[in-house]
Amino acid sequence: MIDIVAAIEAIKISINCVKVVSEGLKAIKEVDQKLDFLEMKQQLVKLTENLLNAEEKIYELDTKLSLQQSIEHQSDGNIMWIIKELKRSGPYCSTCFGDEGKTITLNDNGDGSWNCPKCKNHFHTKQWRQDQDEKHRRIKRLYKV
Ligand SMILES: [Zn+2]
Repeated sequence: MIDIVAAIEAIKISINCVKVVSEGLKAIKEVDQKLDFLEMKQQLVKLTENLLNAEEKIYELDTKLSLQQSIEHQSDGNIMWIIKELKRSGPYCSTCFGDEGKTITLNDNGDGSWNCPKCKNHFHTKQWRQDQDEKHRRIKRLYKV
């Protein structure tokens, strides 16, 4: 009789052990699934970051292309203009545009000459040079230099 009671008790303990092991395995499986989910979330964050970088690069290249398609060089003065929808803006520094692709608005001196606030280059038209030459000739004649 005692052996049967002990056997039943052993079976109950064994069943409880199986339940505990089963619950432990289930908990491990849930932890694994959560880890997989976290890894997927990390990959999603990286992919989203890569996508944002790619979109930023596309925007940057699109802006650069649009600028290059709308910019015009004026050889008389070596200055740049942007033409958009038949409207002209500028002038911009050809040195800064050629060097860094930046459009730096030139300061207009109002006499056919401009200067760049960034690179400090001076730009002028052929007419401005002729006017300057004429001024120098007049000064030389006036002071008989
Ligand atoms: Zn410049």
